[in-house]
Amino acid sequence: MPAPNTKAPRPASKASGTVADKLLRLGLRHDIDLALHLPLRYEDETQVVPIRDAHAGGSTPAQVEGVVTACEIAYRPRRQLMVTIEDDSGALVMRFLNFYGSQVKQLAAGTRVRARGEVRHGFFGDEMVHPAYKVVVEGAPLPQALTPVYPAGEGLSQAALRSAIAQAMQRLDWHDTLPPAVLDKLSLWPFRPAVELLHNPPPGVDEHALAERSHPAWIRMKFDELLAQQLSLKRAQDARRLHGATPLANVGQLSQALLASLPFRLTGAQQRVLAEIRHDIQQAWPMQRLLQGDVGSGKTVVAALAAAQAIDSGFQAVLMAPTEILAEQHFRKIAAWMAPLGVEVAWLTGSLKKKEKDAARERIASGDAKLIVGTHALIQDAVQFSGVGLVIVDEQHRFGVAQRLALRNKGLEAANQPHQMMMSATPIPRTLAMTYYADLEVSVIDELPPGRTPVLTRIVDQNRRDEVIERVRAAAVEGRQVYWVCPLIEESEALQLQTATDTHATLAAALPELQVGLVHGRMKPAEKQAVMDRFTGGELHLLVATTVIEVGVDVPNASLMVIEHAERFGLSQLHQLRGRVGRGSAASVCLLLYQSPLGPVARERLAIMRETADGFEISRRDLQLRGPGEFLGARQSGQAMLRFADLETDQWLVEAARDVAASLLAQDETTVERHLARWLGSREDFLKA
Ligand code: ADP
Ligand code: MG
Repeated sequence: MPAPNTKAPRPASKASGTVADKLLRLGLRHDIDLALHLPLRYEDETQVVPIRDAHAGGSTPAQVEGVVTACEIAYRPRRQLMVTIEDDSGALVMRFLNFYGSQVKQLAAGTRVRARGEVRHGFFGDEMVHPAYKVVVEGAPLPQALTPVYPAGEGLSQAALRSAIAQAMQRLDWHDTLPPAVLDKLSLWPFRPAVELLHNPPPGVDEHALAERSHPAWIRMKFDELLAQQLSLKRAQDARRLHGATPLANVGQLSQALLASLPFRLTGAQQRVLAEIRHDIQQAWPMQRLLQGDVGSGKTVVAALAAAQAIDSGFQAVLMAPTEILAEQHFRKIAAWMAPLGVEVAWLTGSLKKKEKDAARERIASGDAKLIVGTHALIQDAVQFSGVGLVIVDEQHRFGVAQRLALRNKGLEAANQPHQMMMSATPIPRTLAMTYYADLEVSVIDELPPGRTPVLTRIVDQNRRDEVIERVRAAAVEGRQVYWVCPLIEESEALQLQTATDTHATLAAALPELQVGLVHGRMKPAEKQAVMDRFTGGELHLLVATTVIEVGVDVPNASLMVIEHAERFGLSQLHQLRGRVGRGSAASVCLLLYQSPLGPVARERLAIMRETADGFEISRRDLQLRGPGEFLGARQSGQAMLRFADLETDQWLVEAARDVAASLLAQDETTVERHLARWLGSREDFLKA
């Protein structure tokens, strides 16, 4: 494999098979991988302080040097090694709870050691517990520079890593992948000095900037990494155009009839995004568009109109939702729109009886069913479509990447992919959208249908539950309906279920004149549906529910939402739940019950909910509170691809990288190639995931 051509990356180490194996396990195969394996942090071993000054209390580690005066194994009560060292100023004990016999020999009295660690006041005087130490001779020189600490794998010592990295850096082809004009414009450091500084920070370097990763050397690394990410995502987007797709060119009779039959006019925002989608799906390459719109903004009708265009053009449209409840809601709503216009809508979920399933599959395969709504049962192998032109995935972030790809591949012949539209009510903050979604077009419905009254949100102490129950009664008397969301108990599903059942019993007893229903995730789908039907039909006044109602459920007459133990929910969950009310014209209220005392983060979350109903704002504040890693799940967040850059603190760099990526792709293919080769190399598969 190593080619005579010197451009080919060389194996990092031939000398030691085992070290090379361990390096490989860290993904360090080529010299460039090693050079870009940058320190996590640095240790300052450039100074030795007198033992007397290395005083306890501070949490910064100190380095001392002394001669061993005693080395003994003690039992107090655990077996441990106590090594006393002394210098001219004083003495301290190095204490090891785990140690090898060889250490006892190595640290015999008279040995000179340098030890580095935090000094604490122990029972027997000042001590360092498990210090880093080494045996030295008197007058041994101190390192001139900070010592890098690398991310390491099991059994791979820092020393071995350091030496492998140093060797790789001697062999490396150091050309700068970026043109001088780009470096100038953004005041970026050149590549080589940046990498060298990070591995070997010179004396006097700004340690704070190094630790914060705001040093220009770090900035250069982050920029390069973000640029590689933007380039590869944009490439993926362009590559899509190489796939064919069937143009869905006909905005015909069904589209017109559907639009005419709606009981409302589309909002300006709906019209705009519909125009974007209509344009895209008329092309001969597959659309990949994310339709974002806050809870209640009316994404479903846009989806239905897009589907109508597919059907008008002679193809099937598929709508997939993450839960049965949501899929069923879509089915009902869309079937109610479409069926009177003579369109057969099929319904497929895992919970259907075999006979029903078979019947649905048959209608789908024959092409009689033009619109197919369902859960991920749709991507199971047994389902054959007759010609899918458009795939719509609702609440797409709840599906794994693999599931979405599987659905896309269900399309026509391999050469022709269906157009794909994803819908999400979870607004993605800008930086995340630019990374995770860089290969998608994005349409945003930034306007709610008219006549909505904003939901009034109140934060209420749990011990005022009785008053809350009275409000429920009052709302029901006025003919309104109420949701009561049970506490989330993440640790135990059984307990959560129990709580929901108990809550239902308590509320039914406290409100004997009301019809109270219960819906939770453990019910059989048919039971669940029966309850939802009764609520939708207005038969139930109060619906006690777990978070199964979180997404998509649409009952406009419901105007009061009670969420118990709201402090246990995340912001986006609260926003989704609250979005179940305020869908009709009645003034709606959301009561967030909390158990005091509230922790600072929970308090902040509830305050945000009270202050704003804007999903984008909530999402932005959520990102601040949680950080992007957790925001979408680490693997999906785009952050997962990034080792150095931080989407939160490096937003300007993301934007700069995006701009540079666009201009390089347009004008400078050589630079693009070189940059991607350096930064992706063996990591390309990962980016495709
Ligand atoms: P979401 O974007 O959360 O999925 P839905 O599509 O469920 O929102 O729409 C919420 C409600 O608003 C539904 O009852 C829907 O029929 C209604 N709706 C959608 N568009 C409009 C509009 N332009 N004018 C009035 N009501 C609308
Ligand atoms: Mg929806």
